[in-house]
Amino acid sequence: MNGYQHLYIPGPTNVPEPVRQAMNVPMEDMRAPDFPELVTGLLTDMKKAYRLENGRVFIFPSSGTGAWESAIQNTLQPGDKVLMSRFGQFSLLWVDMAERLGLDVVLCEVEWGKGVPLEDYAKHLEADKDHQIKAVFATQNETATGVTSDIAGVRKVLDAAGHPAMLFVDGVSSIASIEFEMEKWGVDLAVSGSQKGFMLPAGLGFLGVSDKALEANKRLANSGMSRCYFSFEDMIKLNDTGYFPYTPATQLLRGLRCSLDMILDAGMESIWARHKRLAQGVRAAVEAWDGCELVARGPEWESDTVSAIYAPEGVDARDVISTAYNKYQTSLGTGLNKLAGKAFRIGHLGSLNPVMLCGAISAAEMALVDAGAKIEPGSGVAAAQAHYRETTPDNAKGS
Ligand code: PLP
Repeated sequence: MNGYQHLYIPGPTNVPEPVRQAMNVPMEDMRAPDFPELVTGLLTDMKKAYRLENGRVFIFPSSGTGAWESAIQNTLQPGDKVLMSRFGQFSLLWVDMAERLGLDVVLCEVEWGKGVPLEDYAKHLEADKDHQIKAVFATQNETATGVTSDIAGVRKVLDAAGHPAMLFVDGVSSIASIEFEMEKWGVDLAVSGSQKGFMLPAGLGFLGVSDKALEANKRLANSGMSRCYFSFEDMIKLNDTGYFPYTPATQLLRGLRCSLDMILDAGMESIWARHKRLAQGVRAAVEAWDGCELVARGPEWESDTVSAIYAPEGVDARDVISTAYNKYQTSLGTGLNKLAGKAFRIGHLGSLNPVMLCGAISAAEMALVDAGAKIEPGSGVAAAQAHYRETTPDNAKGS
């Protein structure tokens, strides 16, 4: 009766109708002789979405956090030195996990609003002549701050230092949305989840694993960290026959079949271009709003999947979010951790189009004005409209 509750948080994202329908199926026999047809196809096609030629992708019945844990437990040992950086709630949580699992974290603290510090990484790697650092971690898209980091740049830094450390990437809010090239960039472990670019409910954790990381796992077969549910070994054994070592979430897998078909039919480049254009419209709106600014500290850091936006001085971002929700039936993302009360977020990833985003911008604009912001009503929507009118996904180049 009241129409839809609009969802513009950076995950879970909107589930396309065909994907929802594909999940609306009876329970099925996960040990049936024809079940491997589904599983083998998914494992093959996940590699295409990851742009991975060798190696493999695991599908865990977990959220992205489970895939983070699996990546660490299967390829590193307690006490191993790893290089990490912290610049938002999710990179912070990954550091926390690494420490809790017993890794010796060499930490680069970065101002929130910037991302992976390539120069600092280069210094640490060049100084590490006896290769004590076993892995380098990079959060490609920090969802809390709307900051994207240069993963190809991290690969260059590793290569320039002639350093053999494995490269771990958090791609939870980037893979299947913005450019990600697992093979080309020499990424060894790449984490993602079902509820963002893959346009599914939460419940599947994805982990791309390179041949080099699979070798590291084999070397640690009888040592390394304790692992059981998330062990590569059990998964490999069963996945190779088209099954899982536990009861799989069959409906989510049917949904994944449908979303992968949509993603691969569209083509990765086209998906990356669509996200760029959508993001540019949101950034045009933010620029038009007096007193608002992006948390990202410059165009090189701006994310094409989520914008974190500082509310104007004196305006509590929590009021903006609650007004949008209660009065305009629109969910915006909250400010996490030190951004609470200061920033709100607009998620612009997954199944979205310009008109949907004009709705999100309109709701944010009304809620901003209601919360006391001195912005010109309609200014953000007009700026976004102008951008969408002037562009198509193909010409939304640059930032
Ligand atoms: N990493 C990033 C960048 C995220 O955005 C999130 C969740 O939003 C996570 C990790 C954690 O993933 P999950 O909530 O699926 O466990």
